[in-house]
Amino acid sequence: MIRLSKSCIGQDEKDAVIGVLDNEFLGMGDEVREFEDLLKNFFGRPVVCVNTGTSALHLAVQAIGINPGDEILVPSLTYVASFQAISAAGAVPIPCDIDPESLNIDAADAESRITSKTKAIMPVHYSGSCGLLKDIYSLAESRKLRVIEDAAHAFGSYYDGKKIGSFGDIACFSFDGIKNITSGEGGCIVSDDPDIIRRCQDARLLGVEYDTEKRFSGERSWEFDVREQGWRYHMSNIMAAIGIAQLKKFPAMALKRQELALSYDKQLNEMGSLRYFSRNYSKIVPHIYVIQLSENINRTMVRKELLSQGIQTGIHYQPNHQLSFYAGNTNHPLPETERVSPYLLSLPLHCDLDLKDVAFVTEQLENILLR
Ligand SMILES: *Cc1c(COP(=O)(O)O)cnc(C)c1O
Repeated sequence: MIRLSKSCIGQDEKDAVIGVLDNEFLGMGDEVREFEDLLKNFFGRPVVCVNTGTSALHLAVQAIGINPGDEILVPSLTYVASFQAISAAGAVPIPCDIDPESLNIDAADAESRITSKTKAIMPVHYSGSCGLLKDIYSLAESRKLRVIEDAAHAFGSYYDGKKIGSFGDIACFSFDGIKNITSGEGGCIVSDDPDIIRRCQDARLLGVEYDTEKRFSGERSWEFDVREQGWRYHMSNIMAAIGIAQLKKFPAMALKRQELALSYDKQLNEMGSLRYFSRNYSKIVPHIYVIQLSENINRTMVRKELLSQGIQTGIHYQPNHQLSFYAGNTNHPLPETERVSPYLLSLPLHCDLDLKDVAFVTEQLENILLR
């Protein structure tokens, strides 16, 4: 079976986990501090590690200061995690349409949905690419909005010569099992804003003030104050140990993903009945490889036939404005999202694939589409 995605784990990760188990300090301590330091070097900015990418987004939304009913603009075409993180913080996710060329949020459409309650915009770096991010930052500046980048797909990607997370307002990453690097589960918040960093550090530890410093010096807080709602969102040493090992291998893993995506591009280039999204893979580290089938092609049938050849595929994503919980949040239609999303299909992409696998997948796909 050629899996759609998977964790790619070697002896280094296994040894690192055994090391933490041998130390018998499994919670948040030295390994988490080291992983945060390494990530701080990677991004060139302060980093707060947490237990999932969703928690990172949730804490970031809470940290900008949400009043009940505040609205956050977010593309409907994203994982439900972006929406859940916003509503968990007491804000209202407002689904926005996509630019069909990039599949990223359309800045003009987002602008048309701004109200007096709009507090922030959350662009999602779909597949690792961030579209016209400068338009999002111009919009945010002119309308006084915070920007929380959902960079779950974009670890290691560059925009305009700069690494994602190294510039801008707030960026949140995911280290779940199948992302560009993993810490088992995990995620982080990156920002230059000391208030955001402080609030996320406290809120990940049940709101216990300055508990991060205590834990990093091997102590605990016995007497403390709590000023706002916190959560049990800190990262454990086991997770950080996996993350540290993965970060060391990241350059090779990034190259592998880029090479596979480029090979898909080359082989799909001449194929009818579909389009692929041309991206600059010397700058982008792809998390998923997505194609768009022609409207006369039945996606369910294609997926079933590929599966019968041992090839798993995925759907990124069902639009969130079509989910019962968020259906009431839309005040006007999202024509591009509705037109494009039923035809998106994700092909296998992970570091344990090789070029032969890509050739097999594209060959099988061509057979099915020619029929
Ligand atoms: C993976 C992902 C998240 C959430 O990350 P988890 O670590 O799985 O909680 C958020 N947004 C997008 C777009 C994702 O793909």
